[in-house]
Amino acid sequence: MEQLVIIGTGCAGLTAAIYAARSNLSPLVLTGTMPGGLLTTTSTVENYPGFPEGVDGYELMVRMQNQAERFGARIQVLRVLESADLSRNPFVLTVDGDRIETKALIIATGASHRHLGLESEHLLEKKGVTYCATCDGAWPMFRQQPLVVVGGGDSACEEALYLTRFASVVHLVHRRDTLRASKIMSARVLENPKIKPVWDTAVTEILDPKQDKVTAVRLKNLKTGAEALLPCAGVFVAIGHVPNTQLFKGVINQDENGYIIPVRGTATNVPGVFVAGDCADHIYRQAITAAGSGCAAAIDAERHLASLAP
Ligand code: NAP
Repeated sequence: MEQLVIIGTGCAGLTAAIYAARSNLSPLVLTGTMPGGLLTTTSTVENYPGFPEGVDGYELMVRMQNQAERFGARIQVLRVLESADLSRNPFVLTVDGDRIETKALIIATGASHRHLGLESEHLLEKKGVTYCATCDGAWPMFRQQPLVVVGGGDSACEEALYLTRFASVVHLVHRRDTLRASKIMSARVLENPKIKPVWDTAVTEILDPKQDKVTAVRLKNLKTGAEALLPCAGVFVAIGHVPNTQLFKGVINQDENGYIIPVRGTATNVPGVFVAGDCADHIYRQAITAAGSGCAAAIDAERHLASLAP
């Protein structure tokens, strides 16, 4: 019987693990398929307090994991939650076919990259269509080639800036005529001579699935309706995220976009189940806010467990 299981090892899950471990709860922490979460796919994190020169996203997550393990968190890498019976306590989790019982649960499953939803995007995924410049940008097929980034938020700006190291030119295709990104990121992008914004435009097709590689994107100007082909060797989609909460649908209260709705602090509608990080946050979505909510969830879980004690 576990006291506390934490699902997810992004900033939220690992911070919860640090706090829960320091409370002697010896939490069982499951990484799922993406140990370290989305931050491991970014380059330098410049806004995490305490790192005035910035810190590599992957390194930050490894440090958090080491810190959690130092205090007794049991982190199981690549273990995936398949189902959760939260109708009774202890809760029953099925993890890679194994049955695990736990008195408390913290959901910190984060969010995944949103897709454009094009059939051609799906067909060319990993064949020139990607969702992570830091993971894939250095591939030889992208070197000194024109590349396309889709989106207008901080992620798209970050991807575009990173890709200027490899590309001959980066076309930033955005559906509006202003960036949603923070002022500092927008300014860096708009001042970079290698980045060419394409405003008011949607990508309607990625060519060419028949050749099994990316050769161009079909664009549609959303104001004029005009269509054009833009040659490129790669498409980097950075249009936001969808929360990883499907497993809890119908059991844990969610909004219409799948974000978990806490009822009080980090508590959910099921007593003993707590939530932290991007799977419940469509507003702030920062590493530091995820870490903060992970801390809060661990404290809430600890108090809940203490209240159950005879
Ligand atoms: P985001 O802020 O939600 O931006 C998503 C962008 O994609 C928006 O420009 C949106 O257009 C566009 N978009 C959404 N759906 C689309 C679709 N179907 N087709 C075409 N375009 C679409 O997401 P994000 O950039 O991933 O950022 C998420 C959070 O992480 C934000 O809070 C951000 O500040 C943070 N973040 C921070 C940093 C940093 O500080 N260095 C880096 C990365 C992310 P509209 O603008 O028209 O809505």
